[in-house]
Amino acid sequence: MPEPDAGLHGAAAAAGGVAATEPFYLPAGNEVALFEQCHARQLAVMLKGPTGCGKTRFIEHMAWRLGRPLVTIACHDDLSASDLIGRFLIRHDGTAWQDGPLTRAVREGAICYLDEVVEARQDTVVVLHPLTDYRRMLPIDKTGETIEAAPGFQLVVSYNPGYQRMLKDLKPSTRQRFVALDFDFPPLDTEVAIVEREGAANHATAHALVTLGRRLRGLQDRGLAEVPSTRLLIAAARLIASGIPERDACMAAIVSPLSDEATLVGAMHDLVDASF
Ligand code: ADP
Repeated sequence: MPEPDAGLHGAAAAAGGVAATEPFYLPAGNEVALFEQCHARQLAVMLKGPTGCGKTRFIEHMAWRLGRPLVTIACHDDLSASDLIGRFLIRHDGTAWQDGPLTRAVREGAICYLDEVVEARQDTVVVLHPLTDYRRMLPIDKTGETIEAAPGFQLVVSYNPGYQRMLKDLKPSTRQRFVALDFDFPPLDTEVAIVEREGAANHATAHALVTLGRRLRGLQDRGLAEVPSTRLLIAAARLIASGIPERDACMAAIVSPLSDEATLVGAMHDLVDASF
């Protein structure tokens, strides 16, 4: 058992392991075939798309499909290079080196998924660079070691282009190291099937929720910064399945999380009323 990622300062790092059962994923296009080719050719991949549209589920599914362990790291602006690579820990009998999650993934030939990579500082992101080109190397300055990535190792990052675009963006020198797969909310029928399955909803409820979601997404032009994701629709479905009245569930799980602004909340409320 690897030790917990004590140095990750609040970042969620899921220890690698191959999923025992298939993570449910409904494809919206040719993303499965594209990713398989990228994996076979050892190309680093960037999953681009809005939050809650299925990027994490996709990579969980692909890791299972390819039989690779998956190491997930949630990026944030405190994440340091040492959090990724590792550090010396002081023990009662001296110091001992502890691999960080990236180093573990490189040694084990895992898929390493850095969620919301744009949140990480540039000096942290640059440690990924030598892993993304033909070298597939990870230099560890503190130990003087340079590790060659085991076969099967693949770097995957997620990136939400709309989110905080004005404040943060990935440098072109980083972007150009990745093959980008574009994600968006799934087509209507696919999204209905997902909400039905993940939200334990009947078909009619799932259809009504997805139709509502698509109408609400139309409010982006009227100033709604974040539009309802598939994840929010699933949350509403789960509340409904547990007996909460439909309108209450939609207000709590979809409308309230999206805005505090009275006019927008009013407009969303009207759309909920029209849907249920
Ligand atoms: P992201 O990583 O893009 O923020 P997630 O992968 O966490 O989004 O998706 C949120 C939830 O939506 C998932 O937990 C899953 O229940 C559901 N979901 C979204 N897209 C799909 C899909 N294509 N197939 C199956 N489930 C999906």
